[in-house]
Amino acid sequence: MELKICHMYPDVLNLYGDGGNIICMKKRLEWRGIDVSVTKMPIGSDSSLAGFDLFFIGGGQDFEQEVLLNDLHKGKDASVKAAIEDGKTFLTICGGYQMMGNYYQTHEGVRCDFIGAVNYYTVGSDIRMIGNYKFKCEEVSGGSTVVGFENHSGKTYLGEGVSPLGRVLAGYGNNGEDGTEGVRYRNLFGTYSHGPLLPKNPGLCDIILLSALERKYGKADLEPLDDSAELAAHDVMCGRI
Ligand code: GLN
Repeated sequence: MELKICHMYPDVLNLYGDGGNIICMKKRLEWRGIDVSVTKMPIGSDSSLAGFDLFFIGGGQDFEQEVLLNDLHKGKDASVKAAIEDGKTFLTICGGYQMMGNYYQTHEGVRCDFIGAVNYYTVGSDIRMIGNYKFKCEEVSGGSTVVGFENHSGKTYLGEGVSPLGRVLAGYGNNGEDGTEGVRYRNLFGTYSHGPLLPKNPGLCDIILLSALERKYGKADLEPLDDSAELAAHDVMCGRI
């Protein structure tokens, strides 16, 4: 078995070491004898998105999101949308997550029309939602408790019938108002959780990997790994938050 991972915009969207999530996914596949390749797709690249199984897009500031608009609307928006509809797996973080929705209206009033792959939108607010937080994934996304770190001023509102990735246990999540965190649509996972999201939350990592393997190979199993160190880190943070 093999998964081909595409890291989109690694040069522009990589706050707090979001790219570390790729190292985590790669290691957890390799430990199970599954081949992995990682291809970086920086801004300006016109390579095809076809042929990849799993896409990763990290977070960035408003400025970087505005810079990317031009590149996005040269056809990548349609390709990303088609890949999502085709059931490809996407892990998108913060700014990358906002980008999958309809638009982001920054606090300064700049409107960024995004991909519109899923019906939600984001509006910049006066407050910065920052700090360690935790949420519980919906059953369809594994049901595990996830610990993370968020830092955003954008408030995201999911449209009618759009499912969140989970429910906030402590912190802000999508908007600090309705208790939702992130999005789950087909095999697209969106979250506000930055940095080492997956190393500290191996259960969520495996759900994401499984979605890509099952789409490609039908039924797939992931051998259990010794996650004692990862779960110890998870539990310490869970207790603190
Ligand atoms: N610019 C967005 C916001 O502040 C995204 C921030 C981020 O990716 N950390 O809402």
